[in-house]
Amino acid sequence: MVVEERISVFDIFKIGVGPSSSHTLGPWKAARQFVQNLVQNDLLLQVQSIQVHLYGSLAKTGKGHGTDTAVMLGLSGFDPVVIDTSTIPGIITQINNKQTLLLLAKYPVHFNPVSGIVFHYQESLPYHPNGIIFTAEIGDTSTYTETWYSIGGGFITKEGEIDKVNNEVVAAPLPYPIDYAAELLNWCKNTNKSISEIVFQNEKYWRSEEEIRSGLLNIYKTMVDCIYRGCTSAGELPGGLRVKRRASEITKKLLQDRTFNQGNWAEQIKAAGSNFHSILDWVSCFALAVNEENAAFGRVVTAPTNGSAGVIPAVLQYYVMFCNGDREDKIISFLLTAAEVGSIFKKGSTISAAMGGCQAEIGVSSAMAAAGLTEVLGGSPQQCLMAAEIAMEHHLGLTCDPVGGLVQIPCIERNTMGAIKAITAAQLALHSNPENAKVTLDDVVKTMWDTAQDMNSRYKETSEGGLAINIPISLSEC
Ligand code: SF4
Repeated sequence: MVVEERISVFDIFKIGVGPSSSHTLGPWKAARQFVQNLVQNDLLLQVQSIQVHLYGSLAKTGKGHGTDTAVMLGLSGFDPVVIDTSTIPGIITQINNKQTLLLLAKYPVHFNPVSGIVFHYQESLPYHPNGIIFTAEIGDTSTYTETWYSIGGGFITKEGEIDKVNNEVVAAPLPYPIDYAAELLNWCKNTNKSISEIVFQNEKYWRSEEEIRSGLLNIYKTMVDCIYRGCTSAGELPGGLRVKRRASEITKKLLQDRTFNQGNWAEQIKAAGSNFHSILDWVSCFALAVNEENAAFGRVVTAPTNGSAGVIPAVLQYYVMFCNGDREDKIISFLLTAAEVGSIFKKGSTISAAMGGCQAEIGVSSAMAAAGLTEVLGGSPQQCLMAAEIAMEHHLGLTCDPVGGLVQIPCIERNTMGAIKAITAAQLALHSNPENAKVTLDDVVKTMWDTAQDMNSRYKETSEGGLAINIPISLSEC
């Protein structure tokens, strides 16, 4: 299954708000676009009320994933990239108390969050398990309706425009069009360029060299800020599971109770020791930090999803801190290579847990990180793709079973596993001759998609199977 489309690095890495790219970021963007479409159709001032219908996985795990909150923020016109996340609880409380929502933060309409957002637990829309219908009551007699799908990683698509969108993106005349890993490898061989150099040339179709570099460094800065906030925030995560944040406790132990200072944290981390255990602890700590922030509705980079947002920052920070990788050009190369691998998975399989389980989230992020790390550690393009293949091969079949519908158990710890597997995969590839490899990245992409199709729907972000039903916590406690 290859969907021919051209995907920018900045489609794969997006700055947003936790806890879920498909259940929070996607519905947020769809709601915002719906209101913008009301404006374009000159309907906004006639809107009397709005109703939102959530289907499939969006209904089943929407409460735990903050879909209702995201939809209200989107209808209110807030931008997930820049919103001050500390203001979110206040905005939602106000909507609840006043039963009024300000469309685009300006135009009041009656909105009861309980009756205005309907969770259709037993129904799915045909195109994708994450379906959402918005209906606006226009004047006294008519309605305006749009159907949207959140298709994973914060990507959204509107019913009626699915084919049009794909046709438009197919037309993007990139110098090195890539749908399969084999094509990427051919471009590298034919041009004698690294993966990141090929991707950089393609990216220039959308933006200038300076915009690419500064945009990627901003992505990196957002990742690092997120790690720092996670490493310095204590307490319980929201949602009712009473999960205690651990990254700050581990940080304190590793620093032997010295205060963590963002200004010179690299020195502090290195001074705390760089033996095997210490490095392993820091990598896990970085991954936990990001996903605790994600679970707390904090600012994260979708990479390629929010549930798996900790893997790439943890591996990149491992490289920066422990492999002398503190160089902007290397950080940019890492991200470019990782993004291309993510895009190959999106085209040939899926990055949506509602379609493919957790292999589509943690598995893909681990493969992306493995490829990025291999390139900056000096691996050849073949070794990068081999590393991505190894990382995914050992995530195949991984199910999605978030307890209480929250992106906390097993999600937060699972990022540590994805990060460590990525580092191991990179090391294995660097010590191997890829000519001898029996499995290609394209083989594993296809296998992941086949596995996704065979996977029981209970394990696809529904919280109806696996850990979600086997640990003694009931949904009513959440
Ligand atoms: S189990 Fe995996 S795929 Fe499912 S919500 Fe958690 S991190 Fe995402």
